[in-house]
Amino acid sequence: MTFWVAFTVLVALGALAAHFYSTRKLNARLLSAREEIDRIKASHATTLAELRAQQEVIFNSIHEGLLVLDTSNRVRAFNRAFRELFGTDMDPISKSLLDVLRVHELADLLRRLEGEDRVLGCEFRYPGPTEQIVEVNATVVRSPAGNRQGVVLVFRDLSRVRQLEKSGSELIANVSHELRTPVSMIKGYVEAILSSAKDDPATLQRFLGTIERHANRLAMLIEDLLTSAELESGRAVLSLNPVSLRSVVDDVLKELEHRARSRGVTMTNDLPDFVVLGDADRLQQVFTNLLDNAIKYGKPQGKVTVSAMALDENRIQVHVTDDGPGIPPEALPRIFDRFYRVDKSRSRDQGGTGLGLSIVRDIVRAHGGEVWVQSKPGHGTTFFLTLRRPSAGTQPV
Ligand code: ADP
Repeated sequence: MTFWVAFTVLVALGALAAHFYSTRKLNARLLSAREEIDRIKASHATTLAELRAQQEVIFNSIHEGLLVLDTSNRVRAFNRAFRELFGTDMDPISKSLLDVLRVHELADLLRRLEGEDRVLGCEFRYPGPTEQIVEVNATVVRSPAGNRQGVVLVFRDLSRVRQLEKSGSELIANVSHELRTPVSMIKGYVEAILSSAKDDPATLQRFLGTIERHANRLAMLIEDLLTSAELESGRAVLSLNPVSLRSVVDDVLKELEHRARSRGVTMTNDLPDFVVLGDADRLQQVFTNLLDNAIKYGKPQGKVTVSAMALDENRIQVHVTDDGPGIPPEALPRIFDRFYRVDKSRSRDQGGTGLGLSIVRDIVRAHGGEVWVQSKPGHGTTFFLTLRRPSAGTQPV
């Protein structure tokens, strides 16, 4: 009897020990499984964060403005270029597209996307500090099963392209207009010579003189156009050297002496001995254009002066002043535009191409300087320009 009791107790104890042992093992397994789950969760979170960061880098490296919409046309993602393009401070996330950009063309675009998977080349004007012309291309995103998941919009700023197209066609119109007059004059006089004037030596001489004048005008126009195109394209290579400004202006004054004398104009070079960093030939062209204008448009028997002052150790400011009739205030903002003239017929009579001041502006800018004008009708005109000085110790060539 005692044996059976002892045996039963032993068996129960054994079973209890086995139970404890297996529970502990199970608990240990459970713990390590939980740890494993936590580890996987943490690694997923890292991968997700990395993917998000990568997506952001890719999004922000795209130069076009990018917007991703969900199925209810609310913003899910956007990139830096989008914010820069539309200059918006608000956070567009979760907002409806039309709340972010109040543009009726985009409402039309969303309507079209209900029936089409792609709408390309939709253009709209976006009002802002400066109105922009923007092109948007839109594509519907679908899951592999074909379900609609959202829309990707790509925005591109077309303002500069459109501006160039406009100025390109304006330039062609202006050039054609400028060429038409001398070409038709030459044609007319040649026809007159061929039909009758060839038999009259005096008339022939006069007509040939007129043809020569118009042919010279054509040559000047072409020369100025080529210079202007070269400077504007940025292809003009300047050979920058320390240059004595005073001697550049002296050379120009010598060349224009005859023209000045014929109008009784006195020209004075009041420049201190400044040395600038410049391309001597181009600077010569700047002063030729400015001084030639001062003679042409200043008053007969007038005075023209070139002077300058140091702005700081790196820059000087030059002044070309005349005491002529001046430029009307409404003409001042356009005075440096190609082909702009206050008095068209006067400019043409004086042999002007209408490109002189735009060439001056392009050359001065290519030198890293600025040019502007001040004028009061009846009180003369002053053109100002800034030029850079070479670093200390360099001698003029
Ligand atoms: P243009 O070949 O007609 O001289 P520019 O570009 O050199 O062309 O000058 C543009 C216009 O600016 C001129 O037609 C003239 O009306 C005006 N202008 C330029 N310089 C002066 C000046 N010193 N005084 C008055 N008007 C000037």
